[in-house]
Amino acid sequence: MIKIGLEIHCQLTKLESKLFCSCKANYRNLETNSNICPVCVGLPGSLPLLNKKAVEKASMLSLALGCKIPEHISFFRKNYFYPDLPKNFQITQYNAYGPTSIGSDGAVPIEGKTIRIRRIQLEEDPGRLLYEGSSEKTQITLVDYNRAGTPLVEIVTEPDFENPRQVRIFLNVLADLVENLGVSDPYLEGAMRVDGNISVQNGNRVEIKNVGSFRDVEKALHFEMTRQQSLVDRNIQVIAETRHWDDARKITVSSRSKEEEQDYRYLPEADIPIILIKQDKIESLRKQMPESIVDKKERYIKKYGIPQQVADVLSSDKFYSDLFEKAHNESNAKEIANIITTDLMGFADTREKKMDLNLTDRNLSDLADAIIHNKITRNSGKIVLQEMLKTSKSFSEIVANLDLGSMSDTSSLEKIIDEVFKEEEKAVSEAKQNPDTVNYIVGKVMRKTKGKANPNTTLEIIRKKLSV
Ligand SMILES: [Zn+2]
Repeated sequence: MIKIGLEIHCQLTKLESKLFCSCKANYRNLETNSNICPVCVGLPGSLPLLNKKAVEKASMLSLALGCKIPEHISFFRKNYFYPDLPKNFQITQYNAYGPTSIGSDGAVPIEGKTIRIRRIQLEEDPGRLLYEGSSEKTQITLVDYNRAGTPLVEIVTEPDFENPRQVRIFLNVLADLVENLGVSDPYLEGAMRVDGNISVQNGNRVEIKNVGSFRDVEKALHFEMTRQQSLVDRNIQVIAETRHWDDARKITVSSRSKEEEQDYRYLPEADIPIILIKQDKIESLRKQMPESIVDKKERYIKKYGIPQQVADVLSSDKFYSDLFEKAHNESNAKEIANIITTDLMGFADTREKKMDLNLTDRNLSDLADAIIHNKITRNSGKIVLQEMLKTSKSFSEIVANLDLGSMSDTSSLEKIIDEVFKEEEKAVSEAKQNPDTVNYIVGKVMRKTKGKANPNTTLEIIRKKLSV
């Protein structure tokens, strides 16, 4: 039996300022140690001032993960020494004296299973260490405090995962959820970092620390599962320890013996008062929350008749569901969903490519309308879409330039079909015997019209001519 639990650090990247001071929350691409102040580098006499928006965002995340928010929240100092932590303690939350962290007892459904959330705590991120060369071989370590004090939430699950694949699915669901909720951009480097706890056959627990990509989390857990099982098979006890994922060698490596919780000497943070969270505040936050992915998906299915699988893919991608919302109307919603999920997502599947997309909602809407009204075929639609992305020209400009307009004029289509009948005598007589082979002739007509003929109309005319 395998038991896996997770601790996920998720930065609240949508905030303007750090958790306890007014330095920028967005520490990325800044000159080193330029985004700091006495509070976030822990100078004597400086006092933390809690960011109200951070409490609100963390509360929303709590609600979205089905957690309870306590009547009051409080902060603790987690004491440890590390060069990236200038105060020698991290301000975090701690539930040992009763639930005072921002959320507890939540649940997230994934593929027919429920993952219980033990707690969510709001805390500050430490700074970053920079090494000259690799961290093992370097003689020089530099520290950049730009990140110190940026807000993050730690999400702790119960050990409910039975295999590494479920972990990967859960992490994807969680990333989509935080993005949809507008609390974090999970695709930013370092925005979501994962620790995994894993044990087999009720043996000792091993923690794998700080894995940056979901794919590596799955790989690391998989490696660890196999390693522990092979120890158990040889009657060797698994040591309780912390390991890290060595990406180059694709193995986990022992890093240090596991710290016991009391080593941290948690103390109440007396510089931050206990915060009361009133029920009506929670209700007003709940009202401000955007529509959940689950509700969105239901709406797509019920209101527009979008097939379940398409609705599933579309609703969980914030970028594309936003585009869909802007572009669609009652009549073309289904077609737009289809274009996005079958064509567009193939063209632009990464964050960078999405950001570079040259597509206005108006162009997308025009394209869908034209396909619905048989002004162009679906095949030509793909070409138009590619051209739109390349040139950002309008729909009508592209169709005119590329001469892609559908052959709505049946008499010219009939002429082409007659030509094909002459060229393909053998196929025609065969189709008369066996109507199933008629697609070959349709294909020839489509090629001759460069895909501009409507396949259904073409088939209809051919059938009539063959009288089959
Ligand atoms: Zn600061």
